[in-house]
Amino acid sequence: MKAFIRALKYLKSAGFTLRLSYVTHPTVLHRMNEDMRYLRYLGFDARPKVYRGVFGGKQYPEDFSTDDRRVIKLYLGNSMDWEILSCKLRFVGKKCLAGHLFLKIDPDGTVYRCSSYQRSDLPSLGNLFKGTFRLLKKETLCKQEVCYSPYEGLMYVNGISIESGTEYGDRIIQMRTNIRSNLSR
Ligand code: SF4
Repeated sequence: MKAFIRALKYLKSAGFTLRLSYVTHPTVLHRMNEDMRYLRYLGFDARPKVYRGVFGGKQYPEDFSTDDRRVIKLYLGNSMDWEILSCKLRFVGKKCLAGHLFLKIDPDGTVYRCSSYQRSDLPSLGNLFKGTFRLLKKETLCKQEVCYSPYEGLMYVNGISIESGTEYGDRIIQMRTNIRSNLSR
């Protein structure tokens, strides 16, 4: 931590604007409160980044305990991150551009339309090395019950309301606008 703080101070003194993401990995949750308070005490803009993935046989964020959630929530700056932490974002039945404009690829060449499809039993889009990959030709209905990759979902599903005036919200609204205007050219 000391070396990290030294590096931050150096960058700050060199004129960089720093924005820190504190990934809420299960191995650091026991010290997160202390770390966040310290970083903020030093004047750094530190925010939690909700960990999503598998660790120790558990699936996160679904398996965060009530206590974990309480600590993380203390530092969440916007409601979207809380939605992610609560695994509430569902776009099933809505048209999504993932698979048409966005892909996730496994090292073995298997292609999925998004991170959520990658970790589900839903079919892939084929395999690059086997010559079976087919890009979706247009936006297609989402069949995944929970969008575990909500930033992808919020970006590629049209018509979902997003809270503006927040860092993530404004960024996603801007990117979504860019995507749609590129598509209409
Ligand atoms: S809404 Fe989410 S889960 Fe569904 S296809 Fe789009 S990115 Fe994937």
